[in-house]
Amino acid sequence: MTEPLFLDSVLQEKIWGGDHLKRFGYTLPSDKIGEYWAISAHPNGVSTIKNGEYAGVKLDDLYQEHRELFGNAKKDVFPLLTKILDANDWLSVQVHPDDAYGLANEGELGKTECWYIIDAQPGAEIIYGHHAKSKAELRDMIESGDWEHLLTKVKVKAGDFFYVPSGTMHAIGKGILILETQQSSDTTYRVYDFDRRDDQGNLRELHIEKSIDVLNLGEPANTTPSVTKEENLDKTTFVSNDFFTVEKWEITGPVTFNKTAPYTLCSVLDGQGTLTVAGESYPVQLGDHFILTSDITNWIFDGKLTVIASHDGE
Ligand code: ZN
Repeated sequence: MTEPLFLDSVLQEKIWGGDHLKRFGYTLPSDKIGEYWAISAHPNGVSTIKNGEYAGVKLDDLYQEHRELFGNAKKDVFPLLTKILDANDWLSVQVHPDDAYGLANEGELGKTECWYIIDAQPGAEIIYGHHAKSKAELRDMIESGDWEHLLTKVKVKAGDFFYVPSGTMHAIGKGILILETQQSSDTTYRVYDFDRRDDQGNLRELHIEKSIDVLNLGEPANTTPSVTKEENLDKTTFVSNDFFTVEKWEITGPVTFNKTAPYTLCSVLDGQGTLTVAGESYPVQLGDHFILTSDITNWIFDGKLTVIASHDGE
């Protein structure tokens, strides 16, 4: 089956969301849309195949019933989740558990994630790490609400990348559009939510004890991107480890790719062009997300396109 799996996915409303996902051509049901779960088999928002012989099938069912499309992968659940987030306001300051803590306490995998900054307003910031030197100091600063001294703020711009392993204190700041590649998990421990109330006047739940349990000490170590240039292609590798490999392909004309993993997730963030597989051409443009399955050993992109591609860890 050499057809790419093009996906239709789920928009999620959030207290901090906005309407910037319009730029990808999505029809937004409100102006508080925070997330598009672009490639997802997570029960909280599953993608649906929209073309070919599996049209209408949910990605989680396809993964369970046709494992051959995914290189007969051994993992019980589809391992990755690709999201686009529109932070029209700050997200909560949060942390995610690792696999051992997540499975023991929440019945699902932990979450290591990473962010590619698609766009950012001038001066936009994220929280990436904290300054506490011990768990005792961490607890003191959280309990006294000394956020000013505790949290590490970093300015960001379009094209930046951040690796956010489980245990990292983090928050995406106001005015940032991000593509996130993460383990397929929805477990978040909130440390601080800026004392915000929703439309009903409610505060969102915090998870202070679990946060202190799982927070790492020391500043997070970001990865160093590496760039290779070929004819019509600038390829940037942002991260490649046990969790995932994430690359950016900046394409300016015809380029032939040979597969480097059992299956590959692709998100088109800019431009338009064609994807040709086994002699069939498919138009692709910004906002499209698709999976190149195991039977696809090579493919050709043509046009002017920026693609974020990812695959499961090695
Ligand atoms: Zn997170």
